[in-house]
Amino acid sequence: MRAIVTGGAGFVGSHLCEALLAQGHEVMAIDDLSTGSRDNVAGLLDHPHFTLFVHDVTEPYFAPADRIYNLACPASPVHYQRDPVKTVVTNVVGTINGLRLAARTGARFLQASTSEIYGDPDVHPQTEDYCGNVNPIGPRGCYDEGKRCSETLCFDFHRQEGVEIRVARIFNTYGPRMAVDDGRVVSNFIVQALRGEPLTIYGEGQQTRSFCYVQNLVEGLMALMENPTETGPMNLGNPVEFTIRELAEEVLKITELDLPLVERELPADDPKQRRPDITRAQQALGFDPSIPLAEGLRYTVDYFRTRVNRS
Ligand code: NAD
Ligand code: UDP
Repeated sequence: MRAIVTGGAGFVGSHLCEALLAQGHEVMAIDDLSTGSRDNVAGLLDHPHFTLFVHDVTEPYFAPADRIYNLACPASPVHYQRDPVKTVVTNVVGTINGLRLAARTGARFLQASTSEIYGDPDVHPQTEDYCGNVNPIGPRGCYDEGKRCSETLCFDFHRQEGVEIRVARIFNTYGPRMAVDDGRVVSNFIVQALRGEPLTIYGEGQQTRSFCYVQNLVEGLMALMENPTETGPMNLGNPVEFTIRELAEEVLKITELDLPLVERELPADDPKQRRPDITRAQQALGFDPSIPLAEGLRYTVDYFRTRVNRS
């Protein structure tokens, strides 16, 4: 099949391109390289079934396709808050352009949605029928509301135009190929540790997150895309929950370093807790996020060892 992966030169997108090629598909990554990099797909550029199209998805595009995975969007709070208006436009106009292409080609369209749909949740763990607690006018609104609107667009194109859609709500995912300057917690802690710097805990570090290794996420995304009937929304993530302080301690344990933890101001609207209920994905897809944090962190630390010295 011919698959388009928008955001294909990003962290998750590059792993997805690789997995799709390994299954024998033709893959076109469409990416403006704003937070992704050519480096992430360097190993694929010579593959006869891979193309990298450097393009901004807020501008219309056309390519023949059977599957469209829509991942183009900055994902780290640092990056998506740098140009919040562009973040909204990418989510809304970028998704419309992808859905229009799906309507025109008959391709199936998967949206990389997010746990941020739930905002700072007052239902825990989060189930797909929970409508969320999002501050529309806060600094995270550009991403959260942008992604919520992307979901709306998917379901409206489905109802109005008959587009086949799949909506995945991705929870915190980590692994090799996160950018050194990504700003999200796992890469920050690893990069800080490998540089011998204190680990920056925002607030007291009692807020929780559930961390999924990228390989498990990619398996879930592909299984959802190929499921014959499920539109989603479907939570994809690892349901084992850690405080941010526990994550910092785990990183120090794996790197065998003894470094201080320093507290920094907690960003506005930072969700206090987050854990996916993945019953739906387990039942419909057999989704099994089997790689535990300690193992996934080891792979990620190995990757960053090759990067940190270069930057
Ligand atoms: P990332 O920043 O590494 O990847 C995003 C990619 O999209 C980058 O390659 C970037 O250059 C590209 N991009 C951004 N704006 C674009 C535009 N206008 N046109 C073309 N390309 C554009 O982040 P990631 O973690 O790989 O996230 C991938 C997707 O998954 C995003 O949509 C994100 O919202 C979603 N997601 C990720 C997580 C996670 O924990 N990694 C969690 C929830 C949702
Ligand atoms: N965080 C932190 N130190 C950092 C980066 C992030 O303590 O150097 C915290 C952040 O405040 C949040 C959690 O870690 O509570 C996860 O942040 P991230 O930016 O990775 O993703 P989020 O889930 O908030 O989108």
